Parts: sequence; C-alpha cells; structure tokens
Amino acid sequence: MAILAWLHNAYGRDLIEGIRAALPDEDVREWPDAGDPAEIDICIVFRMPHGFLKLFRNLQLMSATGAGIDHYLLDPDFPKGIRMVRIVDHDFASRMADYALAWTLFHHRDIAHFLAAQQQHEWAYKIMRSAREVRVGVMGLGQMGRLAAERLAGVGYDTAAWSRSRHAVPGVTCFAGPDGFDEFLARTEILINLLPLTQTTRGILSAATFAGMPPGGVVISAGRGGHLVEADLVAALRNGRLRAATIDAFPVEPLPKDSPLWDVPNLHVTPHCSSTASIRTIVDTFAENVRRFRSGRELVNEVDTVAGY
Ligand code: NDP
Repeated sequence: MAILAWLHNAYGRDLIEGIRAALPDEDVREWPDAGDPAEIDICIVFRMPHGFLKLFRNLQLMSATGAGIDHYLLDPDFPKGIRMVRIVDHDFASRMADYALAWTLFHHRDIAHFLAAQQQHEWAYKIMRSAREVRVGVMGLGQMGRLAAERLAGVGYDTAAWSRSRHAVPGVTCFAGPDGFDEFLARTEILINLLPLTQTTRGILSAATFAGMPPGGVVISAGRGGHLVEADLVAALRNGRLRAATIDAFPVEPLPKDSPLWDVPNLHVTPHCSSTASIRTIVDTFAENVRRFRSGRELVNEVDTVAGY
C-alpha cells in the first residue's frame, strides 16, 4: 500500500521531503504521479478539490495539514467510512492565542485612534480602561479557544468562553450550548470567534449575534469564512452596532481585490494568517499517525466526522 500527498501549497515541497525522511519505508507518492489508485490507502492533503478522494477506492486514512477540516467534510463525495486526523499542537494554538491577544489589545487600547491622530499631527490623548474592566468572550474552547481564553484571562481581561459542552477553565467564566449563548453574548464587548465550521456554526457571525452584544462591541474572527454573514458585518460596522472588527478568514479567499470589505471603516483584514502549524509538527504528527495506523494502534487527533470537528 502507498501514501498519496496532495500538497500544492507554499510549503508543500518541504512537507513531502520531511514525510519521506520520517517514513523511509513508506511508498510516498505525489499527485499527479499516484500510480495505481487502488494502492493508495493513506493520504495527506491541503484543500484538494472536492471529488478527488473518491478516485482512491482503498483509501482508509486522510490527514489534514491544519486544524480546520470543514473543507473536507463539505465534499459531497467524501468517501464514507474513512478516518480523518488533524493537527493539534501547543505552538500552533499559542500563535493563535497571540493573534487573539494582539487584536484584543489593539481594540481595547484603540490603537487605530492614535494611528489616525498621528496622520493629522494631533495629540489625541485618551483615557484607557484597565483590562479587568473589559469583557472579552471567546467562542470555542478547543485547542485554539482554550489557550486564547487562558492568555486573555492571564493578562487580566474579564474573560468568558462559550462551547458546545460545559467546561471549567480557571479564571474564565464558561457558558455552554444554545441556552448559554444569549447570556454569554450579553456580557461580551470583544467577541473572538474560534469555532470550527459545522452545520450548526455556519453564519453565526450575523446581525442577530451582533444585536445580542452590548452596543459598540468588537468582533475578532479567526474561525472560517463560512461563520461570517458579510452583509450583516458591513451593516453593523456602518450603523455603529459594532465599533470595529478584525477578520482573518473569508468566504472567498484570497479576498478579491474588488471586495467591498477592504474599504469598510474600522474593519481590519488579515490574510488567513492568525496561526500556522510548523512543518516539523505536521510531519511528526503525520508520521506518528501512519506508524500507529500500520500497527493497528489508536490514532492521535482523530476527528469526529459525525460532529464535524
Ligand atoms: P477544536 O475542534 O479543537 O474546538 C472546537 C471548539 O468549538 C470546542 O470547544 C467545541 O465545543 C466548540 N464548538 C463546536 N461546535 C459548537 C457549537 N455548535 N456551539 C458551541 N461550541 C461549539 O477546534 P480548534 O480549536 O482546533 O480550531 C478552531 C477553528 O479555528 C478551526 O476549525 C479553524 O476553523 C480555525 N483555525 C483558523 C486558523 C487560521 O489561520 N485562521 C488556524 C487554525 C485554526 P466542545 O468543547 O464542547 O466540543
């Protein structure tokens, strides 16, 4: 049996070389040189086109190269019964926690105000609230959300988090499920989205959610573009329901040059860069899962394909 790599992203070549070095006894093939498709039982992919995986009728294990797996599960031809693994790693989550903290500080300390004032040569003094007076809310308490919430709480923010099942995180007020959502939103001035994209979370960054927050709130989203109702975000920023937003993931990426989002006042766009797993982490995790799979042992970071994350 053989491994197929579909890794046509910026660091795909480094990944393939790393995988070959880590698994010298494996037959690692690169698309389009897959050989006999029936020999492929494991693949590692980065956003392959939908319908691609069904070419491999003996495929049993698919590895993602990141945390989000929505693209794969949304493939209508995703082969039934195959197992899926993803990347879970402290450094990966730590980079995301830094992103969440950096933009929370940016909005809390109103850095945009000082940048604009300097352009006008204005000494625009402003009194700042203390972090403990600022109520921050993190949606999602998985590998990304938990560390982000802990880091924000560690800096002193009045931090809450919302997840599907109930969690206990020291220093963080935890809410859970649909019943806890309204209360979570009502106390959240700076909302940070670190949810996976599933049937339930699609479109969660909507007018209804913004209306549930105190007026003049801020949204920071590093989840997925499918979480965002673009028109609702634009309207909320234009009518002042939201004071500002930072968005890292968009329904269409790269964000088209003629997208109106580039020019919405107080909307900060980042190019899906909030966190990336290191090549070493991806290679090591994949190699470990291949060894475990070949010897019939439990896999690491296996996805619950029914829950969708
Ligand atoms: P995890 O799967 O580890 O965690 C998901 C969290 O979301 C869990 O706490 C889960 O609750 C919660 N959740 C899921 N569904 C619901 C729901 N319906 N209602 C409330 N809470 C829900 O995900 P990760 O932390 O690894 O990643 C989160 C997302 O971050 C990724 O899916 C990806 O989209 C994004 N990401 C973005 C990157 C970027 O560069 N922009 C980089 C990496 C990740 P429970 O704990 O109860 O199961």
